Amino acid sequence: MENLEQIDKEYILHTYSRDYIEFKSGQNAKLYDKNGICYIDFTSGIGVNSLGHNNKNLVESISNQAKMLHLSNLFAIPQQAKLAKKLVELSKDKMRVFFSNSGLEANECAIKIARKYGERSNRFEIITLKNSFHGRSIATLRACGQDKMHKHFAPFPNGFLHASDINEAINIASNKKSVVAIMLELIQGEGGVKAMPRDEIKNLESWCKNNDILLIIDEVQSGIYRSGEFLTSQIYDIKPDIVSLAKGLGGGVPIGATMTSKIDIFEAGDHGSTFGGNLLVSAAGLCVLENLESYKKSGNLDNNIKYFDEKLEQICKDNQRIFTHTSGIGFMRGIKTKNDELLFSIIKKAKQKGVLVLKSGNATLRFLPPLTITKDEIDTGFKALANALNEINAEI
Ligand SMILES: *Cc1c(COP(=O)(O)O)cnc(C)c1O
Repeated sequence: MENLEQIDKEYILHTYSRDYIEFKSGQNAKLYDKNGICYIDFTSGIGVNSLGHNNKNLVESISNQAKMLHLSNLFAIPQQAKLAKKLVELSKDKMRVFFSNSGLEANECAIKIARKYGERSNRFEIITLKNSFHGRSIATLRACGQDKMHKHFAPFPNGFLHASDINEAINIASNKKSVVAIMLELIQGEGGVKAMPRDEIKNLESWCKNNDILLIIDEVQSGIYRSGEFLTSQIYDIKPDIVSLAKGLGGGVPIGATMTSKIDIFEAGDHGSTFGGNLLVSAAGLCVLENLESYKKSGNLDNNIKYFDEKLEQICKDNQRIFTHTSGIGFMRGIKTKNDELLFSIIKKAKQKGVLVLKSGNATLRFLPPLTITKDEIDTGFKALANALNEINAEI
């Protein structure tokens, strides 16, 4: 038989620079390849496997739901209603939810809400920030504040403006009558794991409220306890008008959700999704939220975040020829490396030593472990990373 790499390269469009390691199984933050070699997973499928691999409760709830997978949104779906209720309760705000299948779709819905909200006052422009990432549809791609992503795919829809920072966003919105919303990530995931300054965000929130500009927070990566709270917005003590969610919500099944306090914005026909919030994904999402809610209450999430933080700070301090500083919040963390070349060799060497780590923009090494990672797994992962860094230190 041909090997996986050959088939993959022959039949899959080449949109990813892929690694051909073959994983066969996983358990919480451990992944095993086809040779039985164990890796500590500090990536959780880019922040998706919030309960880790092979979580007993999640496997059970998905298996139980397999006998009835889908109904269409023409009928009320009990699991979907329960999941929406849970999301709204955890948000501690009065909101309603639209379900879709991915992060970009959650943002697309957010954009549609903003467009409809601005319709009567002839406002439609949405300001996003430099280095932001919001998805890869034509509209959400246009929303990304990274010029390099915009080549090849023009023309783009109108209605998006980029600001270099929050103050500039406020300036633009003050001067242009056509602006209806400002959309941003509180921690830029792809843009270097960069957390926004708290005072600027508080200021932005009150400025937006006073000026009838919607505040859209893209929590596709930062939401669902990734930063230690249900929403990173709660850490910043803000109540956005619109929040988009996806990655960690389904624990591995594809689900996106858009929450808004503009609860009456849509009427039948304004938006829709065939698969959105079907029985299977809603059952999974509900299981993820229930498990994470009790995990948070147990104190283990906060404890392990603290433990992880100590290890991260230590490894940064121990390798000052390679790293400059740590960044991010909770289990959404980065360490800035001196250059991209170093970053790539760390990721490669770390894998050889048994730990999987991610890259982010601005030469940042990125960590998105499963939220249920144990202290033992954290220890093993950082030991492997230290081994990799020792070898790199010896080479430079
Ligand atoms: C991953 C991500 C998206 C896009 O999500 P997809 O599910 O890949 O469409 C959007 N915004 C942020 C902040 C993300 O991290």
